[in-house]
Amino acid sequence: MKGKVYLVGGGPGDPELLTLKAVKILARAEIVLHDALVSREVLALVAVGAEIIDVGKRCGRKLLTQEEINALMVSYAQSHQVVVRLKGGDPLLFGRAGEEIAALRQAGVACEIVPGITAGFGAAAAAGFSLTDRRVASQLLFTTIQRDTDNRSIQWGGISSTTTLVLYMPGTDYARVMQQLRDAGWPDDMPCAIVSHATAKDQEIRLTVLANLADEATLPAPSIMVVGRVVAEELSQGFRLGPETADRISPPMVI
Ligand code: SAH
Repeated sequence: MKGKVYLVGGGPGDPELLTLKAVKILARAEIVLHDALVSREVLALVAVGAEIIDVGKRCGRKLLTQEEINALMVSYAQSHQVVVRLKGGDPLLFGRAGEEIAALRQAGVACEIVPGITAGFGAAAAAGFSLTDRRVASQLLFTTIQRDTDNRSIQWGGISSTTTLVLYMPGTDYARVMQQLRDAGWPDDMPCAIVSHATAKDQEIRLTVLANLADEATLPAPSIMVVGRVVAEELSQGFRLGPETADRISPPMVI
């Protein structure tokens, strides 16, 4: 076995949010297997001459199965020194990294993980609120809305409102998200932020409250939702977003 596979976080979109380590590895890469979420600006940092392979999903169509991706990583590591598995955000969040690490270990391939800025952090920074705040939120839950009702479903009722929810893959059915949280007893006035293309040029931010979530127009994917008192806290404390960001927020939030 000669090469090594680097599981690299590509960050939420803005290439300046890559780690130095990620930039250095991309500049040495011989093979890059990337997901659809990785931005063009980030891919532009890949070494000239490297082979860049899109293994992600496009328009709901899977280009490659997870097993095929695992097999590709293992096989490229036999013939190349620097194989990069590049993922959006952080590689260890909602990215099937567990399965990839297991496959590499089983095949005896060396693997190194390079963290990235996850979409939830990018979204909160873009919208200008803290994710924890000693006045209103002492914990965070990184999760996703379940579309099935099997026993992996989140017991929303067991989560107190001092928790900030960061909802990955919220889908387009905001009414469903609203219903799940309301059924669990989350109050109608709970602030929600929806951030689409966080940190990228086409970023859009909506601030609303749980009761009005279903009325929001669906933002383009990828988008993420943050639900919790922190979303309103900074604004209610007199914090105002800069003019560049503020004109992209609609409607102006009053809580
Ligand atoms: N590993 C990634 C998450 C992959 S799951 C990370 O750490 O960010 C894919 C989901 O991430 C998308 O459906 C969306 O909810 C979220 N996401 C990724 N990039 C995003 C971005 N730039 N803006 C908003 N949401 C994003």
